[in-house]
Amino acid sequence: MQKILISSCLLGEPVRYDAKGTPLDHELIRLWQAQGRLVAVCPELLGGLPAPRPCCEILGEGGGAAVLAGRARVMGADGSDFTAAFIAGAQMVLELAHTSGARLAILKERSPSCGSHIIYDGRFASRRIAGSGVTAALLEREGVQVFCEDELAAVAS
Ligand code: SF4
Repeated sequence: MQKILISSCLLGEPVRYDAKGTPLDHELIRLWQAQGRLVAVCPELLGGLPAPRPCCEILGEGGGAAVLAGRARVMGADGSDFTAAFIAGAQMVLELAHTSGARLAILKERSPSCGSHIIYDGRFASRRIAGSGVTAALLEREGVQVFCEDELAAVAS
């Protein structure tokens, strides 16, 4: 059975910037977990960041793809530049996709790493814009299909 990458926070692991999880209570998640199909990943922890850590947003246009191309940065609310850690984490998740054979990923929407349709605009003002996070952009570029937590039915089909 094909493996599916999933954001660790969606399984309730306390890996978010605020050291909390955002558990997804859904029968498909329970089924895939029981089948051993889920590969939990937190790109920001894989990139070497701790939990808790400063809340981060992508500064500059183009979202995660622009970060990967060196045209945008990932900044913390404290003014620190976290770009290198975010790119390193994305690369580690891609490596895990290769080693596990996963061609699908369920990633947490709105995160500067995991968002696949919506991210924040980089001004730390809770303003949402269309765009992908760094890991979602890298996975999509490399042929891994990325879905958000509201698209489980599409993953199952
Ligand atoms: Fe969840 Fe992704 Fe943020 Fe890690 S980087 S806490 S997996 S949204």
